[in-house]
Amino acid sequence: MVCANWKQKGGGMANRQWRREEYDPIGGHHKHSVSAPAHNTDQDPPALLIKIRGLADGDNPIDLSFDAALLDYPEFFNTANLKGIIRKEGDRLDLTAQVSVDGKFECTRCTDQFERKISTGLQLHFVPPRLAPNVGDPNVHTYDPTSVSAIDVLADIRDALILAIPMKNLCREDCKGLCPTCGKNRNREKCDCSENQEASGAWSALKGLSERLRAEEFKDPTRN
Ligand SMILES: [Zn+2]
Ligand SMILES: [Zn+2]
Repeated sequence: MVCANWKQKGGGMANRQWRREEYDPIGGHHKHSVSAPAHNTDQDPPALLIKIRGLADGDNPIDLSFDAALLDYPEFFNTANLKGIIRKEGDRLDLTAQVSVDGKFECTRCTDQFERKISTGLQLHFVPPRLAPNVGDPNVHTYDPTSVSAIDVLADIRDALILAIPMKNLCREDCKGLCPTCGKNRNREKCDCSENQEASGAWSALKGLSERLRAEEFKDPTRN
């Protein structure tokens, strides 16, 4: 299994210690190398680099894990994974992968905290400008094969994982939610506001309305 290798930042970057990693898919074995060139300063944006210099034509497997903190999204924690293939055809690179990360969320129905693995597919294309399509495709990135030695996939992974968080993010499929009357979590405790009481509450409101309407009728001066 891959073990992540990180460059640790010191000083004022206490909460952003892990910012850049480079993964080298060459050789069929998983090798991590720390991206720590002399120019790497705190101003460098976070990056997850995949080394492409020397990559052979054809399918190159990728299997890497990295600290979810690199994704800089509060709900993501633990380790994130990218597993797939980077296919090289000349200067064209196609990355097809599954990405996943552990997430800590608040249930949209009962507001309890719960953990869920977020996982989604990712397809990215890196081409020199001359091969880029005319229409803008967010999954197509242009790069200069003569000068670029590694591609950064961090922003794409981040976007894909955030998009993969369900809109209705429930702690469990049959979450009973909070009681609208007393606010108790119905997954954990049964409250006194039974369905009957709620129903009768609605019924008495209707009854009151009909009584008021009847009273209005008697007051209606146009009626004989
Ligand atoms: Zn819930
Ligand atoms: Zn209740």
